[in-house]
Amino acid sequence: MNNILEVRGLRKDYGSFALNEISFDVPSGYIMGFIGPNGAGKTTTLKSILSIVQPDSGSVKMFGQDGGAVQNEEIGVVMDSPMYVDDWNVGDVEKAVSSFYKQWDKELYSGYLKRFGLEPKKKIKEMSRGMKIKLQIAAALSHSARLLILDEPTSGLDPVARDEICDLLREFVTDESKSVLFSTHITSDLEKTADYIVFILNGSIVFTGAKDDLLERYARVIGGLQELNTEQKKLVIGCREHGTGFEGMVETENIGKLPNGVLTEEISLDEIIIFMNKGAENHE
Ligand code: ATP
Repeated sequence: MNNILEVRGLRKDYGSFALNEISFDVPSGYIMGFIGPNGAGKTTTLKSILSIVQPDSGSVKMFGQDGGAVQNEEIGVVMDSPMYVDDWNVGDVEKAVSSFYKQWDKELYSGYLKRFGLEPKKKIKEMSRGMKIKLQIAAALSHSARLLILDEPTSGLDPVARDEICDLLREFVTDESKSVLFSTHITSDLEKTADYIVFILNGSIVFTGAKDDLLERYARVIGGLQELNTEQKKLVIGCREHGTGFEGMVETENIGKLPNGVLTEEISLDEIIIFMNKGAENHE
């Protein structure tokens, strides 16, 4: 399988927070979701990949070349705060943005504006967050990009708009030479859209691989009054004890090591994030 993006050993130290040897691959033709709790380092990683932030060490390869050698055209970017001037209207955005790209496709851009219901005269300062995101996505898709990097593209959008964006991302990767890396807190969007997941916690990657492998690797565990010995307690990640028992997450390969009578069931991505985070706090 070809990789469109290869990230190796990225480090960025802010003093109170550090990215710790971030490494993962985004394969060609797939959508990779980037997840982790607030402050885990998602934006810092995406900015380091894009050289918006200068990492202390590590390397980034896109399309098999060093990140620095890649043409602007080939990457479509949607960040949380667009660099658009408040007084610009949609047409002004096109003038400014298109000048950066040799292969700007005017018709494609107006097609996306129509599809998103964005009026050409509408000013940035009059737009909702959702409209600004859609405008950035329209621009990112109008210059022959082969890799889309998006920081929380669906947050703050209503369910209809989110569904529209998820459909667009899926359409984008039907051309198997293209890929998407996007961060999000909305795991239902990932369940629908992502093929692969990178999961970051406190600046370190805790999982990278196929989404289905992540969901199969863990199970939710619910215990009654069964006593857990010290070894068994270590197996329950993010264990929450309460008056009538405990709950947490366990690696499916360890289910047989738990006492008889505990219940295990399928786990959601949201629960994996919650239990992993709680597990990390329990070890602090
Ligand atoms: P969220 O989900 O809340 O957007 P995130 O996973 O994207 O979070 P980052 O924005 O990458 O997290 O922030 C990670 C940590 O790095 C935070 O503790 C943040 O305060 C810190 N940080 C980010 N930028 C800087 C900076 N320029 N200087 C110092 N610390 C920073």
